[in-house]
Amino acid sequence: MTAPSRVCPACYAINPWVADVCVRCGASLERAEAFDERLLWALDHPDTATAELAARLLAARRERRAIEPLGQLLQSADPYRAAAAARALLAFAGDPAADVLIAEARRHPSVMVRRAVDPGAETAARGAERGLPVRDARAAPMVAAAPEPRAGRRGARR
Ligand SMILES: [Zn+2]
Repeated sequence: MTAPSRVCPACYAINPWVADVCVRCGASLERAEAFDERLLWALDHPDTATAELAARLLAARRERRAIEPLGQLLQSADPYRAAAAARALLAFAGDPAADVLIAEARRHPSVMVRRAVDPGAETAARGAERGLPVRDARAAPMVAAAPEPRAGRRGARR
């Protein structure tokens, strides 16, 4: 977001900086909340970078109330938001609710989300696809940099 604006704490509508109440729902824009509550709220912020930062901070603070909303963020259609949620959930590994969500992230349709929870496994999968099984994590960057197999050499790949 470029122009200074106030985001409604109730409905996330973007309001002019000078507004005291939300133009959409009428909620007060002055409400003061504890920091963690502000971070939980910011997980759904319309600005993706803000949502990503909130997820990182909640993970660093080990704020367990974040697990459920991070699970919701993991369902986001935006892979950047979903990946941020997945990465943050790793901080809560060992918590049964978080472990279920981390397992979900490992099966996520977006490669960005799968890599967020398991960068090594994703690289190994790419290596295996190219006939280069990766058993040593130190080889991962080389495999990741290896050129794609030429199309047509061994027939179409898909
Ligand atoms: Zn509102």
